[in-house]
Amino acid sequence: MKIRDVVIGANASIFYRLDFKKIKGAYYPKTEEDVDEVLARARESRLGVTVKGGGSGLSGACTGGNAERFIISTLLMNRILTINEHEGYVDVQPGASPDDINEILEPRGYKFYVAPSSRDIATVGGILNTDGGGNDTWVNGTMRDNTIRAKMTLYDGRKIVVDHKGVRSNDGALENELNRLGFTLNDVASSHGTLGFITELRVAIRPLTELEVVGAVAHFDDATELGQTLTKMIAAKSPIKYGEALVEAHPDIREDLQLPLLILQFPEDYTDDLRTITDFTMLQPDEVERMKEIRIKLPKRNPREGIQLALFEGYGIHDQSLLKMQESVDRINELLISHDYKPFAKYGHAPSKWYVGSNEPAYGMVMHSREIKPEGKSGHEVLKAILDIVDLCDEIGMTPKPEHKWPYGDRIKRARLEKIREVVGQGFNDFIFCDDCGEMLGSMV
Ligand SMILES: Cc1cc2nc3c(=O)[nH]c(=O)nc-3n(C[C@H](O)[C@H](O)[C@H](O)COP(=O)(O)OP(=O)(O)OC[C@H]3O[C@@H](n4cnc5c(N)ncnc54)[C@H](O)[C@@H]3O)c2cc1C
Repeated sequence: MKIRDVVIGANASIFYRLDFKKIKGAYYPKTEEDVDEVLARARESRLGVTVKGGGSGLSGACTGGNAERFIISTLLMNRILTINEHEGYVDVQPGASPDDINEILEPRGYKFYVAPSSRDIATVGGILNTDGGGNDTWVNGTMRDNTIRAKMTLYDGRKIVVDHKGVRSNDGALENELNRLGFTLNDVASSHGTLGFITELRVAIRPLTELEVVGAVAHFDDATELGQTLTKMIAAKSPIKYGEALVEAHPDIREDLQLPLLILQFPEDYTDDLRTITDFTMLQPDEVERMKEIRIKLPKRNPREGIQLALFEGYGIHDQSLLKMQESVDRINELLISHDYKPFAKYGHAPSKWYVGSNEPAYGMVMHSREIKPEGKSGHEVLKAILDIVDLCDEIGMTPKPEHKWPYGDRIKRARLEKIREVVGQGFNDFIFCDDCGEMLGSMV
């Protein structure tokens, strides 16, 4: 891959048709001072900026939306600055990935417990901006739960340090105003690069523990029974260390599995308690691995005819939409079919934790969905289907998972960010707030 692809090109979202002429500069700062210099240049040129981490975000926010802009990559800001095992933190530059951090920590018997599947390329700056996490968020939380503080530089060059309690800044008026607004790390989490440049993060680390677990599979009559079982597990705070639900899958890829099912790993001494919640069959370790392998391959295999695509990957199913999960799945499928997409696979982390725009935690299942791609759809038609899904999520109480399809996601979060930007200023990823950007986004699909 060329450096140009890393910095200004490739990203993992469906918004991949970029007009490179609109990118007026691509920068690779190494230090906070370098960032200051680029921002000064952007202000002189009256251009907005977009920060790009690993480019693995699925919302397209790291593209900058095809507006005239500077792209600032954190590719070269990936140093681990301080390790403090005693107090349980490391200070890192924003471009370090979880794997970069753990490569250094694990030999010392410590670990940074944020593990999205993309942990080899996703950066901690990007992960905080999408509030990502792995299939263990149920036990280890999302990125915001594992971040202690973030240093940020605003578009006009002012600096702030944000933690879970509030803000500090050498600009007293700014500090007061942001604290009056109640600005904390919750606001930076899943802000999609719209507030400022994160130049350094302090993240939590804990001793590395290898917990002994046993494996099992639970089968269900339908998705509602699965959703109700997950609801009981959540209420009981079940110590599930790995939970992955396979809700439905095309016959070409589901092998011999009977769906819906839930693959589980948990401490052996939890076996009897788990039986009070659901029936399950214990599995030998090789059988657990075989099932995990089928799950991992779901998004990678195509049907015998056609190709699969992820139109809208992250359905956060919780509360009522979880209790009536079959109805939720049926409504999604009806909508997909009405736009000519054939449902192909639905699967995902369960039980899982994420946050909604009000910063309340949500618990349930983060369901990924794959469809068989119809021929000949224009970018605008694809976008229309996505926007209809967002409306459906609103209607039936599902949360589009923030790292996936923002800016069409959470209206509460958007309103909050707009309020904060009245104080911190604009200039970072302004395109996310445009009301009539459908034309531009449609042309990028
Ligand atoms: C194969 C694959 C698997 C994935 N699995 C998971 C998963 O298991 N869990 C999960 O949560 N996500 C997952 N994702 C989504 C993705 O990895 C996450 O959204 C990730 O957090 C993005 O990090 P990034 O560094 O690639 O950010 P980018 O995509 O580069 O950027 C994301 C956002 O962060 C902003 N940003 C980046 N760095 C900074 C900074 N220093 N300062 C200010 N703003 C910044 C960007 O402007 C953009 O808005 C997956 C993606 C892929 C492709």
